[in-house]
Amino acid sequence: MSGKHTNIALFVPHAGCPHQCSFCNQKSISGSVKPLEPAEIDRAVEVALAGSGKGMEIAFFGGSFTAIEQSYMRSLLERASKYIDNDRITGIRISTRPDAVDDEICKTLKFYGVTAAELGAQSMDDEVLRLNRRGHTAQDVARASELIKAAGISLGLQMMTGLYGGSREESLYTAQRLIELEPETMRIYPTVVLEGTPLGELYKAGKYTPQSLDEAVDLCAGLIPMFHSRGIKVIRLGLHSGGGVEEGYLAGPYHPSFRELCDGEIYFKNILELIKTTGVPKGRLELAAAPEYLSQLKGQKKKNIKRLEDLGYECTVSALPGLGRYEVRLN
Ligand code: SF4
Repeated sequence: MSGKHTNIALFVPHAGCPHQCSFCNQKSISGSVKPLEPAEIDRAVEVALAGSGKGMEIAFFGGSFTAIEQSYMRSLLERASKYIDNDRITGIRISTRPDAVDDEICKTLKFYGVTAAELGAQSMDDEVLRLNRRGHTAQDVARASELIKAAGISLGLQMMTGLYGGSREESLYTAQRLIELEPETMRIYPTVVLEGTPLGELYKAGKYTPQSLDEAVDLCAGLIPMFHSRGIKVIRLGLHSGGGVEEGYLAGPYHPSFRELCDGEIYFKNILELIKTTGVPKGRLELAAAPEYLSQLKGQKKKNIKRLEDLGYECTVSALPGLGRYEVRLN
């Protein structure tokens, strides 16, 4: 996830969620998903600690953690917090809805040792939020973000691209507004159409067209540097494989290596910019990137090398330690 440490991920389904966000299939799958029992936290922690040792966090995901029944929420937090008290885990992450955060809830989260809270903002355009039946406004996102930061909890934000009624401009606007809220981390999810969702019905009726994979990659390759340049880590791009997406997939830009595609695209854009600014002639092109990013420079399945070939460049790549992420130089 955020690099050095791994999470002990525990799914908290929101049974009885009063909302029906356009893209969410929790209602259609909730019959088959059992509520998380506090005892399962013990089992998951023991298994994880036996496997990889220290520096782990417990992550309650599911998107509505603070909207679940409050005594149940406390029972989960209480069980998790005992592993912080005995120094066996380093923190607790939760993800929730912007309208399910208030002063009281922030105090509770802080009390039980929650270190990071993520908000599903999805869009900062109220009309897009309404069309996708989110049940909250952009103002809720801003208010909840301030409360989380004021409580001394690390803020993470999540946004979606290609929502019903959304656009490229709306995503750029959303990213800009979210940057102003100064989150530490971001997750970006291109909208994928799942079976059993209102969006699935709109799609089948020909009223919604998802982004193509290329459109989503191109847009996200523009969004990531916006966050990156402000020191905000983009810790997730695209839905996880194996999280039930494949089974319920109807349409949309899902790819198991979506991040790699985006990183490769950012490098390609930066290479083109470098060619333009240096005026390097066609023919041999010797590029360098930091050793850990060489495969991103080449692109997935060497896509960038092939595209440069098509443009008349015979490309070689080498490692230049010390260059930053997405930085590319002529060698
Ligand atoms: S995404 Fe929306 S509908 Fe789904 S569980 Fe969260 S709040 Fe409820």
